[in-house]
Order: sequence, then structure tokens, then C-alpha cells
Amino acid sequence: MRWALIGASTIARQYMIDAIRAERGEIMRVMSASADRAREFAAEHQIPKSGIDLDEALRDSQVDAVYISTTNEKHLSQALAAMNAGKHVLCEKPLAMTLDDATTMVRAAEQAGLVFATNHHLRCSGSHRAVRDLIVSGRIGDVLSLRLHHAVFLPPHLQGWRINAPGAGGGVIPDITVHDADVARFLLGEDPVSVVAQMASSGLGDGVEDSAMSVWTMPSGTMVMSHESFTHPFAGSGLEVHGTEGSIFARDVMTQNPIGSIELVTASGREAIGFDAHNLYREGVRRFHAAVAGEGEPAATGVDGVKSLAVALAVRDAAARGVRVDVNFGDVR
Ligand code: NDP
Repeated sequence: MRWALIGASTIARQYMIDAIRAERGEIMRVMSASADRAREFAAEHQIPKSGIDLDEALRDSQVDAVYISTTNEKHLSQALAAMNAGKHVLCEKPLAMTLDDATTMVRAAEQAGLVFATNHHLRCSGSHRAVRDLIVSGRIGDVLSLRLHHAVFLPPHLQGWRINAPGAGGGVIPDITVHDADVARFLLGEDPVSVVAQMASSGLGDGVEDSAMSVWTMPSGTMVMSHESFTHPFAGSGLEVHGTEGSIFARDVMTQNPIGSIELVTASGREAIGFDAHNLYREGVRRFHAAVAGEGEPAATGVDGVKSLAVALAVRDAAARGVRVDVNFGDVR
């Protein structure tokens, strides 16, 4: 698979270039809004071509797929242009700024017969898969509740558009609540129906929220509680799933790396649960390559990206208006 990177971003630099290359993908070019940044990024990562012209990048017949990791307001136009040029697309979350835009991206990919995936990495982790296996195999009985702890500290080098640019998709809800929505859907196998929420600016957010707490109603009756923040240096991340026959405590698992621990507590006692420690992003790329080869679906599809965005939008709306909000998935099923 031959790739173009759309966006000279931190996530590409820190994780995705290595992940693509580890899966024998070739990175042909990088595109940035700045010629200097593109050139420097290409030199730093031994990428043969760079530039500021999206159309030129998309005309490159040596490019099969694009990875989009620009700021969120650019994802829609860049993804549609890539699909128009016949390229498969792996897009960062949130897919877009609105539900309609994200749905448009999914429909465009369907019409063009192209693979369109969302880079939700957490469902690719061995830890989340192990938790899901425990739930599906009935080890905790009927699931009563899920608590998602994702209040972290945004490192200084990322304290840019995320904390002060609503027009670029800033705020903790588009940034982290989308991930948590995907985790809940992945673990529980159902979509939230409605949400109540509160949000706050607690030290970093300047015109956008930097913290949110919400409670989601699931069709089965399982209750989901979700906490996201950019301002919590020492909280640690994790998730807990509580059932009639047991509880799962997964600590430090809302991360980009294959770390953390899982403990199952039942009437028989406490049991440490092992899990595979593969690279989360590499697994996402592996599944994307396979999907393009006609083997299965990407780890998180475009529809998964629409749904995680829909939940995040409902959380923000509920927090802004102080009311319960039904999650609107539009016409995506
Ligand atoms: P960055 O801020 O690092 O990059 C976003 C854009 O900012 C880049 O595309 C680049 O524009 C521009 N930029 C980069 N460096 C500079 C600079 N020095 N001065 C001015 N502009 C600069 O963002 P992230 O990599 O953290 O996030 C990018 C996307 O990836 C977002 O959609 C985010 O939500 C998502 N993301 C997903 C993660 C996941 O685990 N799935 C984790 C982290 C982020 P240009 O391309 O034009 O050069």
C-alpha cells in the first residue's frame, strides 16, 4: 500500500509513520499548508515528496490511500477530494465538525467503492479486546454499568488549537469524548440512546471546554459514565465494567500505548487478566490494508466514526443546554 500523508501532524510523527511502515506500507509524500513544514517533515521522516497542493498529491498515481490528520475542520474537504481521486481514506477522529458532514464522507466512500476508516485506536488494543472478551463470555454476568475514566493532562506541545480554537474542532469533547463513545460501543455492542452532561473550563480551555462528565443511557439499560479532561495530571486513566457476577477493573488503558492492567473480581476472588501487547496504531493500519485487499472491514469504519461523533455532539449539546439529549445518528445505521 502506497500512502500520502495529508497533514504534517504530531500523531503522524509520533505513531502513524512507524505504524504504516511496520505494516509494509510505503509513504510516498506528505502534504501540509506550509511548504517549509512539509519539506522539514519529509526530510525528518525520509518521505520522498512534499508539498502544499492537495490536488497534486491526489493526482499521484503512485498513491493508493491517504491518511488525514489535519485539524478537524479540514477532514471533510480533504477526504472528499481524496475519494474523488479514487484514494482509500484513513481519517482521524472526529471525522468532521457535524453529523451531516461525517455522513457525507461515509456516503461518498460507499458510492466510490473505497475503504473509509476512522482512526479510533483504542478498540485496536489488546486490553480493550480482553475486556470485551470477558463481557461477551459472560464472566461478569449481566452488565450493569461502565465507567470510563479519561481525564488526562494535555502535554504542553499539544496545547494549541485543542484548547483555544473552536473553529478547528478544539475542546475535550471532540477530542476525547469521541474516543470514549467508540470504546463504549465497542465494549457493549450497542449505541447510546440519550445523554446528560456537564462541561467546564478548568484551567486550559479558552473558548472551548477542557473537561466534561456525562451519563449515557444504553438500550439494554446498562448505565455509562464518562469523564474526559485535559487538566488532570495525576488522575490516571482506566475503565470499569460492573456486572451481576463480577467487575472488571482496567487501569491505564485509555492510552496510545499497549500498557495497563486488567483485574477481574468475582465471588471466586481476584484474577489478573493477561492481554496481547501489540501496537494499537499498527493494528489499525493492518486492518485497513486488509480491508483494501478485500479482507474484512477496517477496525473502525466510517460509520463507527459517524456514531462516535454523534455521541460527542449530543454530550456537548446536553452540557450546553442542561437537558437530556437523544443521540441523533441521522440516517446512518
Ligand atoms: P497537530 O497540532 O500536531 O497537527 C494538526 C495540524 O497542525 C497539522 O496538520 C499541521 O498543519 C498543523 N501544525 C503542526 N505543527 C504546526 C506548527 N508548528 N505550527 C503551525 N501549525 C502546525 O495535531 P495532532 O497530531 O495532535 O492531531 C491531528 C489530528 O489527529 C486531529 O484530528 C486529532 O483529533 C487526531 N488525533 C488522533 C489521535 C488518535 O489516537 N487517533 C491522537 C492524536 C490526534 P499542516 O498539516 O497544514 O502542516
